[in-house]
Amino acid sequence: MSHCDEDALALLALGEVVDSRDVAHVQECAECSARLEEYRAVVSVGRTVTPDDLPSAPPAEVWTAVSAVVARDRASHGDVVSLDAARSRRRRGGYVLAAAAAVVGLIAGSVVTTSVINRPEAVQMVASGTLDPIGDAGVSGSAVVQKVNGTSQLKVTVPDLPNADGGYYEVWMATADTKNMVAIGNLNPGSTAVYTLPEGMDLASFPVVDVSLETYDGNTGHSATSVVRGTLKA
Ligand SMILES: [Zn+2]
Repeated sequence: MSHCDEDALALLALGEVVDSRDVAHVQECAECSARLEEYRAVVSVGRTVTPDDLPSAPPAEVWTAVSAVVARDRASHGDVVSLDAARSRRRRGGYVLAAAAAVVGLIAGSVVTTSVINRPEAVQMVASGTLDPIGDAGVSGSAVVQKVNGTSQLKVTVPDLPNADGGYYEVWMATADTKNMVAIGNLNPGSTAVYTLPEGMDLASFPVVDVSLETYDGNTGHSATSVVRGTLKA
């Protein structure tokens, strides 16, 4: 796929749920993971901002720096200085004021960001289950369905999932008899995957979570090689 768009990276940095393809891409693309780190740095700064940092109350050191420059310029007002010296001083003062304005702008931006970051997420646990080993895979995991701000999400973790060896793992939700299976998304070894479930997904009809080993054969159906499976319970 092409690179992740800025929205996806920003949401990832905020710890929000994004398309699993973006998650997979960012793990493999040095460029996108570098940009994600930049977003994470901004988010961590944003999270340190407190109401005291509101634009009306910028950090004391900013105003100390500004007033020092202003005071210095005032003090030298009556002095006879060369035009160049006066110009450079004025310019320097201008830079500090510009920097101060930038900092204030940054803080104002951060306050907006913070209010987004700190927006309480309404997380409601819906169901969960353990994923037991199937066949000789010898691994197990867990699955959780939760409602985050009204949207159903399936979270799947299989901690010791081995390398897929030229294939890939796919997460499914299935009827109790596993005759009807719905592909949910891919699962990379070593990561916890979070999927947004289709709005109409009925857990009572599809209570089984299954992870299969698939090959890149273009066949969208279940490979019949499951590695773990479990049933979600409310
Ligand atoms: Zn990329």
